[in-house]
Amino acid sequence: MRDSVRVRYAPSPTGFPHVGNIRTALFNWLFARNMGGSFIVRIEDTDVARMVDGAVESILDGLRWLGLDWDEGPEVGGEYGPYFQSQRLGIYQPIVQRLVRDGHAYLCYCSPERLEEMRLEQTRRKEPPGYDRRCRSLSNEERARLEDEGITPVIRFKTPLDGETRFNDLIKGEVAFKNSTLDDFVLLKSDGYPTYHLANVVDDHLMAISHVLRADEWLASTPRHILLYNALGFEPPQFAHLPMILGSDRSKLSKRHGAVSITEYQDQGYLPEAMVNFLALLGWSLDDRTELMSREELVKNFNLERISRTSAIFDLKKLDWMNGVYIRQLSQDELLERLMPFLESGLPTSVERPISLDYVRKIIPLVQERMRTLGEGVELYDFFFINQPDYDAELLLGKTLDRERASGALGISLDRLSGLDSFDSESLEGVLRLLSSELGLKTGEFFGLIRVATTGRIAAPPLFQTMAVLGRERCLGRIEEATRRLSRRGPEQ
Ligand code: GLU
Repeated sequence: MRDSVRVRYAPSPTGFPHVGNIRTALFNWLFARNMGGSFIVRIEDTDVARMVDGAVESILDGLRWLGLDWDEGPEVGGEYGPYFQSQRLGIYQPIVQRLVRDGHAYLCYCSPERLEEMRLEQTRRKEPPGYDRRCRSLSNEERARLEDEGITPVIRFKTPLDGETRFNDLIKGEVAFKNSTLDDFVLLKSDGYPTYHLANVVDDHLMAISHVLRADEWLASTPRHILLYNALGFEPPQFAHLPMILGSDRSKLSKRHGAVSITEYQDQGYLPEAMVNFLALLGWSLDDRTELMSREELVKNFNLERISRTSAIFDLKKLDWMNGVYIRQLSQDELLERLMPFLESGLPTSVERPISLDYVRKIIPLVQERMRTLGEGVELYDFFFINQPDYDAELLLGKTLDRERASGALGISLDRLSGLDSFDSESLEGVLRLLSSELGLKTGEFFGLIRVATTGRIAAPPLFQTMAVLGRERCLGRIEEATRRLSRRGPEQ
């Protein structure tokens, strides 16, 4: 009996980890931390042809960004290493030889061409695909002849031809597969690398993994794994297959739903604490109500019992909402610190660097309430930084103004604002309210005009505070520019 919880996240570095994949990592991490167990990272890099450069780094960066620290694995080591399967090839070979010796596996000399032909034939006959077991009962002479031809064999598992393989999945309950539906899968490839099935089972055993929490798509592999555990005389770990994640339209989660790599979320300015909270709720819940939970609360409450059996829905709108909540919870100083890198890298090069901390400090109270992501801040609030925002002169007119009235109103505003003693938000409000009634304009019309003139946008943070932060010089310059834009007539007029 194993007494401690040891779980692993076992990514294949064949691409950059997307949210579904990281959800698996998070559930394993939460379970380990909740149980006082160990969280292990193992890199399953046995598919040489599908490896992607930089994928391991990006996987580890994603974990680090979310604060999912690992007790054993790349960089930190551990007593069950190495934690890269490509460095464990010497471990799998003798084990597979033992399976051959014990009659649980056999050498298969079928060429890729023959297997391809067989597959085509099976499709033509509408039969399920799978190896036809031609090499399972080769005579010694036949084997010797094939050896003489210099063919490097693969090694296949001798799957029982009848009976059932059952196991109890901690989420799905009792699961049974007919052995006749499983083929004689490959254990060792001709390049000497193990397949996923072999390496995964051997390593879970050797690394004393107690629970396998993994995506639903691996459920169909599990009967093969159980058969392998039995053939090897190893005790299988407990299995828990996590519910699928679907897009908001209930179709398979894809890029279009936001299933992009985790680093893209980081680049867009989602906060790791919001991401952890959001991912934790993709298939797990505390109760039917609670949405906002800190990392500590998640660790304290996470359990396998409340992992749902039904698919989870990935709702990007909910993530945006949640991220906004977490942004509002930051102190202004924390937000300043987190926002600066986004401003430095996101604002156009025409904006002088380094960006003034004091200036951003003044902007933060105006934008913190409205921000959903840190990256969005750059787009929405660039008018604070750039010289002159670009916009169409028509925008100045709103729904009701004509060019003459708008120009006139801007001209007088320019006058009054230049004479203002102090350019703070109260004075600005005082003078502009008065002006709007003198001009006989509704405040909505007039403030809309001034807002577009000074920010280039119809929606911006509170007008007077925004103008105060922009400062007199900038505001006046922009109002002059707005007047110029209004007097420029398009060719059709
Ligand atoms: N290497 C597999 C993957 O990329 C691991 C599956 C498992 O956890 O067994 O997801």
